[in-house]
Amino acid sequence: AKEMGRDHYAFFTERMGNDIRARLAMQRQMRGAIARNEFEVHYQPQLCLRSGAMLGAEALLRWDNPVLGKVPPNLFIALAEEYGLITAIGEWVLDTVCAQIRDWQAAGLGSIKVAVNLSGKQFAQDRTVPFVEATLRKYGLDPSCLGIEITESTVMGDPDKAVAALTSLKDIGVSISLDDFGTGYSSLGYLKRFPIDVLKIDKSFVDDVTTSSSDAAIALSVISLAHNLHMRVIAEGVETREQVDFLTRHGCDEMQGYYFSRPLAVDAFTALLREQGPF
Ligand code: C2E
Ligand code: CA
Ligand code: CA
Ligand code: CA
Repeated sequence: AKEMGRDHYAFFTERMGNDIRARLAMQRQMRGAIARNEFEVHYQPQLCLRSGAMLGAEALLRWDNPVLGKVPPNLFIALAEEYGLITAIGEWVLDTVCAQIRDWQAAGLGSIKVAVNLSGKQFAQDRTVPFVEATLRKYGLDPSCLGIEITESTVMGDPDKAVAALTSLKDIGVSISLDDFGTGYSSLGYLKRFPIDVLKIDKSFVDDVTTSSSDAAIALSVISLAHNLHMRVIAEGVETREQVDFLTRHGCDEMQGYYFSRPLAVDAFTALLREQGPF
């Protein structure tokens, strides 16, 4: 089913990219999507590799539109950036996630930590950091409940501004993860400049970590690099028992992937939280 999903997405992307009318349709649909309540946040567990305990989750946006069907996030996020809609959508995600954390706390499920992806376009705007602070205040949340995931491309546009924004987020207690690590250009330079708490080993290195000696070497280097810089490291896209064993054996801190769970809708994720007990 997973392979089918992937092919379906690839087909979608190709068709949208080539078809200007389809793109216009998507732009039109996207404009009203927040108001029509078509977006939904799913939550994918992030687990401690030593204990197996769930430490938190990554928030992943889903869009189900009556005309277009389920649109893959990689595609609609890129288009939302192009159409200038990403700020509104990104703010909706932050508000929704913070409201959800508050609800889980109110239900006695403890203070789960959720990481939200921030797009570069959103990040470049002066209003983003104050918006994060205001939203945490609005729901009475301790900032340590929130994480932000950025990629190198998120911060590449204006690195000085990004350093300032990330530093203010970190100062209030929001943690910062560097996503897709190893797939960009000047990773090491960024690591020195940005106040990063967590490195995420990209799925492309995790996929063949047990069969390719070069991918294994990269994964091990990322783990020791992170630890030497006093950062935590999380492997993403973990799908097999063998990958889990390898990563555990080599000191990776956390994992995320289909091996334990796909991203889950709120109800399913809440059920998982209940099973594991309060944080
Ligand atoms: P990402 O941040 O790198 O998220 C990880 C992607 O890998 C997610 O795809 C997730 O569903 C998928 N994944 C997790 N574990 C596995 C696994 O074991 N196997 C496989 N094959 N895939 C796995 P998704 O949900 O389709 O999101 C794609 C991208 O869209 C994200 O990549 C992120 O860049 C972007 N995105 C999603 N939600 C948001 C959002 O709220 N805001 C922004 N700005 N971007 C978002
Ligand atoms: Ca991410
Ligand atoms: Ca990633
Ligand atoms: Ca990615």
